[in-house]
Amino acid sequence: MLIVGNWKAYVQSSEKAKKIFAAAKRVGGHAGVQVVIAPPAPYLGMLAVGNRSKVEFASQDVSLSTGGAATGELTAAALADAGASYAILGHSERRAMGESDEMIAEKVRHALANRLKPILCIGEKERDQDARYLSGLRAQIAAVFAPLSQKERMQTVIAYEPIWAIGKTAAEAITPADLGEMVLYIRKVLSEYLPGRGAEKATILYGGSIEPGNARELASGTGVDGFLVGHASVDADTFSRLVKALY
Ligand code: PEP
Repeated sequence: MLIVGNWKAYVQSSEKAKKIFAAAKRVGGHAGVQVVIAPPAPYLGMLAVGNRSKVEFASQDVSLSTGGAATGELTAAALADAGASYAILGHSERRAMGESDEMIAEKVRHALANRLKPILCIGEKERDQDARYLSGLRAQIAAVFAPLSQKERMQTVIAYEPIWAIGKTAAEAITPADLGEMVLYIRKVLSEYLPGRGAEKATILYGGSIEPGNARELASGTGVDGFLVGHASVDADTFSRLVKALY
């Protein structure tokens, strides 16, 4: 199970950052899980220095800029150098700020060029009765996967995050049955880009109100490879309980 804690902009003090990281290190040493945390960039640098634990780091985004005269931009190269090994890209909160599929595809290429494994977020705003949202998901994958090489496609993690389930409670998250269907659908779309057993082996995460109370049931029998966790990743005790539920 790959468990990625997306701290978003919830964490705004180094004291809190250190406390959650300490908890992540304690639970992240277990053989059955790989814990990755995505702190705000200043804390990523602070925590990654000298990190010898099993916990890895993700950036919450990368810049479209590759460097130079671009004040305020966080380049993939700088984030990788600061200690990130993954990059969350195309998160719905960034898409809502105007990021297009083309921009996200470009960012995925920057991430890969700097040895950051992209975590590509896809997800529908709502579900229509005719299931047109499925073609929207297919288009989000196609925009990024089509230009990539086979090797780059294999390195790209998919995070299925239905927007209607983000930032709610466990009771409002997806059901295990629906998640199982979505994982199958995403693997079917991926099989158009990954020949052989590539789509079977691809890493697919679910995100949207994962909490200690629903992590286990959503992990069992759904075919999902892990979770992208938002609000439940920024409280040390809650995050520990969530990770332990997946041992
Ligand atoms: C997210 O936004 O990536 C997310 C999964 O948030 P939450 O867990 O708070 O729904």
